[in-house]
Amino acid sequence: MDIQTFEQMQLPEFIMKAVADMGFEKPTPVQTLTVPPLMERKDIIAKAPTGSGKTFAFGIPILCHIDTASKDIQVLILGPTRELVLQISDELRALAKYKPELRITPLYGGQPIEKQQNALKKKPHIIVATPGRLLDLLHRRSLKLDTIETVVLDEADRMLDMGFLPDVSKILERVKNRKNLAMLSATISREVMDISWVYQRDPVELTVPEDKENKPQIAQYWLSCLAVPKNEATLRILRLAEFERVIIFCNTKSMVRRLAEILQHKGINADCIHGDNTQSLREKVLRRFRSGDLQVLVATDVAARGLDIPNVDCVINYDLPPENEYYVHRIGRTGRAGRTGMSFLFVGYMDDVRLKDLIRRTHNDVIPVYFDENCNLVQDVEE
Ligand code: ADP
Ligand code: MG
Repeated sequence: MDIQTFEQMQLPEFIMKAVADMGFEKPTPVQTLTVPPLMERKDIIAKAPTGSGKTFAFGIPILCHIDTASKDIQVLILGPTRELVLQISDELRALAKYKPELRITPLYGGQPIEKQQNALKKKPHIIVATPGRLLDLLHRRSLKLDTIETVVLDEADRMLDMGFLPDVSKILERVKNRKNLAMLSATISREVMDISWVYQRDPVELTVPEDKENKPQIAQYWLSCLAVPKNEATLRILRLAEFERVIIFCNTKSMVRRLAEILQHKGINADCIHGDNTQSLREKVLRRFRSGDLQVLVATDVAARGLDIPNVDCVINYDLPPENEYYVHRIGRTGRAGRTGMSFLFVGYMDDVRLKDLIRRTHNDVIPVYFDENCNLVQDVEE
């Protein structure tokens, strides 16, 4: 039977009341898909777009399983950042409003560890943690994970993208009596598949497609850079409109450095981040970019990973991304929060086959354009 309503999920009274208080009329699509298998403690891997209601998609079944008479930690939720960890804790607390004896503790870096050690002494039923801080607490023997039954990796793609794969593996190894593992993600990256492969058994795979309303609006163009070289094309694009924030992705560190210099030389307010920069330097450049001090940021994919980059007006793929998935990540920096974004993809010598493959596999509508004699962009007509 397909589940359409909260009633059909046969949820306990305390959850029904909290859901009613929040004004939710019916479960979101991802919730209708994940709640039944998680109620049965199955492993799941759920791909659903941002804003689709993933927190309660795992939160509802988790709260149903907690035995508040016990003093054991029963659930571990891992998230990539302090902000997300706090947000998840707050939302779960709201959902557990009518079960005040249910204890939820967030654990994250940047707060004195003693404070969190004390919180653990109060015997939470659920912990929500960033991988780094949790490992730190484990090394200090502040908690044990062997009573945990369910582990959730929220924003799994982002977390693993940020380099947490070894930490997450170490943590999962320590959850000796785990019954199930749920992974929720906006995309299913290679690392997400790796974790699934090693730690899940017959996972239920669930996908919620993007709907038009929350799909980012991005006008995507590709441009052959044989007649007009890439540097010149970049300059022309920057002159097209008064972009406030532009990100340019190159495939190598040296190209990133070189292009930033060229742009600076042409009087453009540009800077770069790449893997050879220290984290603090990258953060510094990014702060200027966020504040609007810096107009153009040139970056490698690796340097841009896991950083909280604001909505940008325009993304330029100076080089064809080495993997199709990167293209999705790159252009995802624009067109957020209901605003229209713009992206360009430079196609060089011998790139045609890869371009066709990329367009086909990412199901994106990328329009061919060229510069006319007045340097205006016009749509190219394919034969
Ligand atoms: P995601 O993790 O998929 O990005 P969230 O779990 O943060 O999404 O939920 C996005 C928003 O939708 C939140 O404000 C949440 O309160 C709200 N929401 C969650 N479930 C429902 C529902 N069933 N009906 C209406 N709104 C909901
Ligand atoms: Mg979420």
